[in-house]
Amino acid sequence: MPELPDLEVIAEFLNRQLAGARIEEASVQKPIVVRDLTGDGFASRLGGQRLESVSRRGKFLLFGLASGDWLVIKPMRSGRLRYLAPGERAGGKPFVVLRFVDGVSLRYTDPDTMGKVYLTPALECVPTYADQGPDALDAALTLEAFAERLRRRRGEIKGVLTSQTFVAGIGNAYADEILFRAAVYPFRKSPSLGEDEVRRIYEAMHTVLEEAVEILRQRVEAEIHVEIRDFLRVHGRGGQPCPRCGNPISRITARRRLTNFCRRCQPGTMVRQ
Ligand SMILES: [Zn+2]
Repeated sequence: MPELPDLEVIAEFLNRQLAGARIEEASVQKPIVVRDLTGDGFASRLGGQRLESVSRRGKFLLFGLASGDWLVIKPMRSGRLRYLAPGERAGGKPFVVLRFVDGVSLRYTDPDTMGKVYLTPALECVPTYADQGPDALDAALTLEAFAERLRRRRGEIKGVLTSQTFVAGIGNAYADEILFRAAVYPFRKSPSLGEDEVRRIYEAMHTVLEEAVEILRQRVEAEIHVEIRDFLRVHGRGGQPCPRCGNPISRITARRRLTNFCRRCQPGTMVRQ
């Protein structure tokens, strides 16, 4: 599932390539992922519009259009955008295609059909968009502000970090990475965390996400449909040696999702719910 670092780098690339470009034609092959909140028809309203900018907020990709409309993509688990340069072809059946005047096209596919592509006159109209907490890398989210938000949460720290209403942009993979870096047990109840642990989680959130953005900037370029996760230290590495202590990394499925962590570096006991 694309998270903050993936989407940050995708937005940067698309903004560099496409800001100022005009959409010649939009076509929808699988309407199940499309939500037209303008009432005018997705393809007919989008065709001919000029793209002003591409950016990211939490786990949403935002395409700002010169008309004031927004094309918003929430990829969820399997939604992927593919960038095709003029003349470049790709196999597979796209769900949505944007063809630009200069011959570039963008294709959205989503085998799980859990993601959404919205066309909206206002971002607030997009479901769950307005409910997001501050972006995880928002400069206004200081350690004090982070600790204050955390004081209002009762759940396990991993669940809190992945809650988009707490901070936006972190999913299952980067939550594991952040808690490993902070050396905090993923299932610790938030109220039990000491001041020093909260500070370590906050600092790890910055370090892990910023380092990932740097790595992906070097590696992704036009291959925005490929999710690169091979540099992660614990997520997806169950059974492999912990990079810090050498103990095998644990792999457990709890609360309906996979969590990887090191029992030695991140000690703790799960409390039954
Ligand atoms: Zn370890």
